[in-house]
Amino acid sequence: MGEPEEGHARRPWIDPELAAHSGLFERKIHRIGERVYCAVGYNLANVIAVDGPEGLVIVDTGLEMRQGEEVLADLREITGKPVAAIVYTHHHVDHVQGTRAFVSDEEVDSGAVPIVAHESLLEQYVQENGAIGPIMGARAISMYNVALDGADMKGMNLGIGPFLRAGENGFVPPTEVFGDEYAVTLGGVRMEMHWVPSEAHSELCILLPDERTLLSAEVIQDHCFPNLYTLRGALFRDPRRWCRSIDAMREFGADVEHMVLQHGTPVSGNEEIHTVLRNYRDAIQFTHDQTMRWANKGYAKDEIARMVRLPPHLESFAPWLRPYYGTVEHSVPQIYSGTIGWFDGDPTALAPTPREQYAERLVRMMGGRDAVLEESRAALTAGDPQFAAELCSYLIRIDREDRDARLVKAAAFRELGYASLNIGWRGFYLTGARVLDGTLDLDPLYRVMGMVAANPEALRRMPPHALVELMPLRLKAEESHEVREAIGLHFTDLDEHGTVEIRGGVAVAEQRRSQDVVARAAGPREALGLLVAGTLEVGAALAVEGFEVEGSRERLAAFLERFELIYERFPNYFLR
Ligand SMILES: [Zn+2]
Repeated sequence: MGEPEEGHARRPWIDPELAAHSGLFERKIHRIGERVYCAVGYNLANVIAVDGPEGLVIVDTGLEMRQGEEVLADLREITGKPVAAIVYTHHHVDHVQGTRAFVSDEEVDSGAVPIVAHESLLEQYVQENGAIGPIMGARAISMYNVALDGADMKGMNLGIGPFLRAGENGFVPPTEVFGDEYAVTLGGVRMEMHWVPSEAHSELCILLPDERTLLSAEVIQDHCFPNLYTLRGALFRDPRRWCRSIDAMREFGADVEHMVLQHGTPVSGNEEIHTVLRNYRDAIQFTHDQTMRWANKGYAKDEIARMVRLPPHLESFAPWLRPYYGTVEHSVPQIYSGTIGWFDGDPTALAPTPREQYAERLVRMMGGRDAVLEESRAALTAGDPQFAAELCSYLIRIDREDRDARLVKAAAFRELGYASLNIGWRGFYLTGARVLDGTLDLDPLYRVMGMVAANPEALRRMPPHALVELMPLRLKAEESHEVREAIGLHFTDLDEHGTVEIRGGVAVAEQRRSQDVVARAAGPREALGLLVAGTLEVGAALAVEGFEVEGSRERLAAFLERFELIYERFPNYFLR
């Protein structure tokens, strides 16, 4: 689109309170008590090491291999002990993808180094990075500010960490799982693990009774208001359950002198820790209760989001309840939706006028495109960037290439972004501004983010049925109404079978061997994984070495062509 004018009218700035929060993430290994080390500032999340008499227990491995390697190198300045075990506090990518930096394949396969997690971890990891991976990954680009340049990122942080750096995925699935509680000695250190569903269903916390230390995972998300809803998108995080999990941690009472979080710096002092726990859970319960109070009186989600404000003693409980990462405003609609669903009782929302048509009719009524553009510029000048952006949205829906409207909207987004105290809001506004003014092509970045989930090394480690079960989500149903056929998959290294059947617009994946197939592919999961993952064109996937096809190769190719590829184009929600 060439050089933007209005789009860059505003110089980058950052809210001083948000800028000051960056100090929390200075790169450093903190020592807590005798045995616990917490590596802060290497990437988005912390890596914790417990230095036991029989070896190191690594609690979370970071987002990518380089983070794991850098943390391990610095730990080696402190101790030369071998890694005895790995624990995952939950399934989010920033906690589980540096694993192969700490353990070798042989150590995992022989059981010498167990990888401990909650029993739901793998399923949750696949759901998040597979089933919703493409759209979640796209939205994460905005939320985590990864597409912004130096000027917009100067002095910034990400609320729960210094930055997000993508890289090689070293995820290894857990080898030892539990349900509610697990008392275990790892590396010679007694550990009491408790399932505490909260910001992730798979969340666990660990009490180290001999160290009087609580590893609180992300139940206390960081020194900031929690993401009761994350703008990247995730399954519903039930606030009532989250409160119960914090209450379970409060039960540790006098046993806790240190609390080591998975984001940000550790906290010491029993009274300080309990004040944080109490206020944190009170803020979550308050947000839930007041949302439902107004919902029960018939108010709509957006109305309630403006009505619910934390009581003064919680709102000012800095930095713990400040909106650097989560906000009350963006949590309220999700609590409403997660509890009674999206519909707020107004039936005009049931079958609304299609948005382009609505925009055309409305703009015509308002005096046409130029009048609306003029009004949007006036709103921007008058200090109302929100209304300016809303007006421009109608023009962009009518013509996505309306350069003037896009530049005014980009300028409005910059005003909103720079003024935001929340890193997610800021990221969405500023990323959107760059897409609108044409200075950012998200497609290449989208493919890089996609590669994180589709890394062949990680694929090789995944249980194959987890990948096969994702195929139905990509079926081009409208082209498959007349199709009734199946293919077989034989994962020879595990001797596991799978069948994928298309039954007229519905694909069904099953973990069984079927005789009635048009073709069967047989080979190790590494090769077949690429066939079913949807990251390669069918021709390229079939050319992968290491598997054989029984029956018709052409029928197999035709079958696979009925499924969408993932990670092709960025789903551009900034132009609609
Ligand atoms: Zn995290």
